[in-house]
Amino acid sequence: TIGMIALDAQGNLSGACTTSGMAYKLHGRIGDSPIIGAGLYIDNEIGGATSTGVGEEVVRNVGSFLVVELMRQGYSPEDACKEAVMRIIRKKPETAKNIQVGFLALNKKGEYGAYAIQKGFSYAVCDTKKQDLVIKGKSYY
Ligand code: ASP
Repeated sequence: TIGMIALDAQGNLSGACTTSGMAYKLHGRIGDSPIIGAGLYIDNEIGGATSTGVGEEVVRNVGSFLVVELMRQGYSPEDACKEAVMRIIRKKPETAKNIQVGFLALNKKGEYGAYAIQKGFSYAVCDTKKQDLVIKGKSYY
């Protein structure tokens, strides 16, 4: 999945995501990406979030909506992503050892963060005041 979240000069948030789905998926499978609240959620009052990885686990936890609601409660983008990842790990610790799920979030203030179950999750930041940055995302394992 490629997920994008943007904050424009007027302070408005937007987002998009696109995916090829999972390898060997069943015909007709719908992953998290096309489901608002799962693979992508934007609330222009608070922030936005998007996910990548095993969509079934993201859908079960309404992951991107969860990340935005945690930011509403005061979590930083990274802490919100981490809590959403931890919820997946706590519910299915054995499954979580062998799957990837990652979240990326941006809030209304322009703060961003990400967290994934497995290593190897990185994201790019484009800031009009700085050069493009590629950031190694934090992960549980
Ligand atoms: N999230 C996607 C899905 O489950 C897979 C991916 O991240 O590429 O369909």
